[in-house]
Amino acid sequence: MMNRIVWHHTGGGHVPNDTDRAAYHRLIDGDGRVHAGVHAIEANAPGARLVAGRYAAHTGGLNSGSIGLAVCAMAGGVWANPRASAAFPTPQQIDALISETVGLCRAYGIQPVRAHVLSHAEVPLTLGVVQKGKWDFDYQIRNAAGRDPLAIGDELRAEVMTRLGTASLWPVNEPKARRPVLRQGASGVHVRVLQRALRVADDGLFGPKTRAAVLSFQRARQLLPDGVVGPITWAALGL
Ligand SMILES: [Zn+2]
Repeated sequence: MMNRIVWHHTGGGHVPNDTDRAAYHRLIDGDGRVHAGVHAIEANAPGARLVAGRYAAHTGGLNSGSIGLAVCAMAGGVWANPRASAAFPTPQQIDALISETVGLCRAYGIQPVRAHVLSHAEVPLTLGVVQKGKWDFDYQIRNAAGRDPLAIGDELRAEVMTRLGTASLWPVNEPKARRPVLRQGASGVHVRVLQRALRVADDGLFGPKTRAAVLSFQRARQLLPDGVVGPITWAALGL
């Protein structure tokens, strides 16, 4: 299983070249078409030995378990003036970045949260792994104002999350049998899934409002209204 997706720009033109293909698993050209890189995603699988030239070396110190997804862009761009690039990321490329991320999240059971889907510029901020002079995407590629890679990443992740829907938060390969019994006081990703399904604020904390929503759901479905989410309630929720 792969642990994360790292978003990049190649620093080149809108069309991938051989160097780019060797460095990333998937590359998106200026028209939004997706190209496979030289190395299979599995070449970077956790536990696989990383031999130079035989895996996609896209994120220093963090290649194991990381899928490298790049937009072919930013040749000639400099941090002080990203728009100096004659190959600035196109809207089609960013749309394709979102769709490809959605597909990879589904295929590998990756959740679109900061620690697991992030731009290269976010890596040191979120994961504490130092990168030298990497600023993909520390510039406005959608609507987020300013040059805050986390805000820009959050905006892209929100799009991915919307496209994935509620089910996105489940690790895809997690057997249903492992879904935890939740009651008031619980917290975490499973609570967020529950809250989304119940259409209450998904802060990941099972408080009185979530409990009230569970109770009314259980009553509506003629289940035992105990406010506890076990296998029967999960199943009734379609999860
Ligand atoms: Zn990069």
